[in-house]
Amino acid sequence: MPVSSSVDEGQAEVPDEQEGLPINELFYSLQGEGTLAGVPSVFVRTSGCNLRCWFCDSYHTSWEPTHAWMTIPDIVDEVQSFDKAEHVVVTGGEPMMHEETVELLEELEGAGYHTTVETNGTIMRDAPVDLMSISPKLASSTPTKEKDPKGNGEWSQQHEESRIQMDSLTAILEAYEFQLKFVVTGRDDMPEIEQLVERLRSQSTANINPTDILLMPEGVTQEQITETRGLVAELAKEYGYRYTPRLHVNLWNDAPET
Ligand code: SF4
Repeated sequence: MPVSSSVDEGQAEVPDEQEGLPINELFYSLQGEGTLAGVPSVFVRTSGCNLRCWFCDSYHTSWEPTHAWMTIPDIVDEVQSFDKAEHVVVTGGEPMMHEETVELLEELEGAGYHTTVETNGTIMRDAPVDLMSISPKLASSTPTKEKDPKGNGEWSQQHEESRIQMDSLTAILEAYEFQLKFVVTGRDDMPEIEQLVERLRSQSTANINPTDILLMPEGVTQEQITETRGLVAELAKEYGYRYTPRLHVNLWNDAPET
């Protein structure tokens, strides 16, 4: 099902408050990215993001958010209707924008699910999460006027100033099992990844192993991924980091609810 309803373009970053969570999609598929790629999973995609990556693969949670409000019990009921799934991916948008995401994660833990949260790492919340999949956004994600999907660059400065929050990142790394998953657009991203990892190692007590660092090719269609994946695989070999596919794109291209 996707549950969705339109909201006005350009509204506040957090959609108008109602009971529960603003849900853009809720569906059953295979985890496409990261160390659990291939695992059957229910995806709960919240709407709203505090960043605006030009390449966002969930445009209708960030640039033009659409959603319907669901209460936490209704979300859990819907998750449980997919009886083969033992794994739930809470994603967005930025799911940790919403306080109610903590309650959802507590309910999912109580129901026995393994949970992954897909986050940009800018907001720390205390919640029961089995795997924090942190995707810090690099300078190459910034929606300059040339890259902005709306063509005006109005989010460029705010995105650039907000995309790395060291206090939140270090707190998340110290509190959770994690993977650091970088969207790589090209070789030019590598010095920034190296510098950020170095800073995180020096400013936190977290043990960041090379295989905790995942390089993922940028691209939301099979055609785009084909252009970047060969280079990103070579970069993973060169730097000793892990390559992650976008399995759902390989399998289903850019179809919704995959
Ligand atoms: S942080 Fe994620 S959801 Fe937000 S704009 Fe970037 S890619 Fe989209």
